[in-house]
Amino acid sequence: MDMVHSQDEDRCADCGWPLRDPYETVSRHPVTEGVVVYSRCACGVLRVWLHRGVRTPPRLIVGGHSTVTGRHP
Ligand SMILES: [Zn+2]
Repeated sequence: MDMVHSQDEDRCADCGWPLRDPYETVSRHPVTEGVVVYSRCACGVLRVWLHRGVRTPPRLIVGGHSTVTGRHP
């Protein structure tokens, strides 16, 4: 079965899980800048996001080294 890949969707470098659809949200912590969200990937990697409101895309602040874009290197 062939999966459809969007060209600019970031994915986990280890398991290919799409970052914008976290496998499991571990916890949320309101901070002055927005909300810090801890999420776990399907392969077990923990990532930390900063959500700054609906108009701003969430920013990956921890775990960005283990991600790839939708394109093959
Ligand atoms: Zn993963």
